[in-house]
Amino acid sequence: MNEVNDTLFADIPSSDEAKKEHDRLVHKAYLERNKERIAAYKKEYNERTKEERSAAYKVWYEKNKDTKLAYAREWKKNNPDKVKDVFDRWIENNPERRKEHYRKRYWKNKHSISIRTRAYYFANRDAICERERKRNSTPEAKEKRRQYALNNLDRRLLNERRRRARKFNSGGDHTLEDINKLFELQRGKCAGANCKKSIKKEYHVDHVVPIARGGSNDKYNLQLLCPTCNMRKSARDPIVHNQSLGLLL
Ligand SMILES: [Zn+2]
Repeated sequence: MNEVNDTLFADIPSSDEAKKEHDRLVHKAYLERNKERIAAYKKEYNERTKEERSAAYKVWYEKNKDTKLAYAREWKKNNPDKVKDVFDRWIENNPERRKEHYRKRYWKNKHSISIRTRAYYFANRDAICERERKRNSTPEAKEKRRQYALNNLDRRLLNERRRRARKFNSGGDHTLEDINKLFELQRGKCAGANCKKSIKKEYHVDHVVPIARGGSNDKYNLQLLCPTCNMRKSARDPIVHNQSLGLLL
């Protein structure tokens, strides 16, 4: 062919190229028609060969470990944005594992962390106190504290019982879990003699032998009372109290 013809027919594919294109289209149509069957087969194949593929990968990995790690290091160095993306996504999807990671790291380095924290605190004490004071005195912070106190009444009262127990040196301790168990043991009813009122709405944790009279803060010295029974009992000696109800002579 001469030069003119070459230019004229440049856009028309040779018969070889045309055949390739035709085959490609046929194949594509085949894939489209059998999409579901192929997907099912792939899935089944992956399931069936899972173990041998993973074993083969392990062998391959051991053989190519150094190259692969070097490549990964290089890739990370060249793609800091992508690394950060992956990291952020992982953190978002694995809050528990992240917490666990920090928890482990903390316990491992507890000693050096506490030394560092203390040193930092003493070096910057005034600034830290000032910052905390400012942060705690905003109306939002006050409201937040109020809400927290309301939402964590159980814990606050638990702490109050502990504080009293320390003051009277009474020994023994209990947890909120113990209170919940007690609630179940009492089947949600007041433990006051002859009361049996429901305490599902409100109850007071009462020391059977009052702390002020040498009672312990242990769970075995606790009972849940309805507000009326608790008020009636207050800090009276239980024997005197029960006598006043005509229960003991
Ligand atoms: Zn009662």
